[in-house]
Amino acid sequence: MKEKCTKCGKPAVIHRRYEGSYVCKKHFIHSIERKAKLTMRNHKMVNKGDRIVVGLSGGKDSVSLLYILNKTFSHVPGTKLIAVSIDEGIEKARTKQIELAKKWCREWGVEHKIYSFKNEYGKTMDQKVKELKKKHGTLKEPCTYCGVGRRYMLNKIARELKTDKLAVGHNLDDEAQAAMMNYIRGDIARASRMGAVTDFSLSEDWGSLFIPRIKPFRAIPEEEVELYAKLMNFGTDKKWCPYKSGVRKDVLIFLNDLDKKYPGVKFSILETFDKLVPQFRKLAKTGVKQKLIRCKKCGEPSAQEICKTCELWR
Ligand code: SF4
Ligand SMILES: [Zn+2]
Ligand SMILES: [Zn+2]
Repeated sequence: MKEKCTKCGKPAVIHRRYEGSYVCKKHFIHSIERKAKLTMRNHKMVNKGDRIVVGLSGGKDSVSLLYILNKTFSHVPGTKLIAVSIDEGIEKARTKQIELAKKWCREWGVEHKIYSFKNEYGKTMDQKVKELKKKHGTLKEPCTYCGVGRRYMLNKIARELKTDKLAVGHNLDDEAQAAMMNYIRGDIARASRMGAVTDFSLSEDWGSLFIPRIKPFRAIPEEEVELYAKLMNFGTDKKWCPYKSGVRKDVLIFLNDLDKKYPGVKFSILETFDKLVPQFRKLAKTGVKQKLIRCKKCGEPSAQEICKTCELWR
């Protein structure tokens, strides 16, 4: 890029079209770390002494998140980070990432635990995909199986490790996509649990069973997290998975097209959604109040007799 940084005149590494600025490497790295910290502060994501599980896939988002959280909290007395990797068993996507996750945890002195779909559900994601293809001929929405299985395990593990927060590397693109998915599905209960810090106060008992999820990168566009990881030499690949498909992928393509024409549109989608979340929460509390029951198979909290994870995986 031949343009110069708007702040200091050094060579720029990025053009932020949504704010009309050019940014050099030093100012870019600083701005990403500042944005993540500001998001945490503005939404009161972390309290002093919190034990935090960091979901660490080994991809660009989670490695960058672990680095920034470790830099921010490693000197805060009482605050503790535990990185947790879930190996879904996607040979082509995860094997290298899990190795990277191990490497960075060793390097940064962060406790690291690895769990797998194979141990929890008796089969890998690769095996599940084969099984479903055989049964139905085609495979619809593999990400649903994967996402449900992963979220379930992360929450259960974070609770068993007696932690206070579960930090995930969702970026602005993930959040804008999730907001759009909620409009498409029209699922008020699910929408009410979104926002910067997930809220499970729908039913009083839910609070102790679900660990609040925090997303410090939710105001940072995906391409910027990618550039940050590249400039920091984290060695992470572009997010890539052979099973990525379905309506989520189409929503993402649509959002990217829109953003090309109207820079900043992902920010406004998220801002609007955030304004609506309190309304969704009110609606969910009055209109569709859910009774907490325990899944008959696994004992985890569920809206139905058999929870979604057991329905899909067991
Ligand atoms: S793209 Fe879908 S299947 Fe692949 S890791 Fe992500 S959620 Fe799982
Ligand atoms: Zn600069
Ligand atoms: Zn269950």
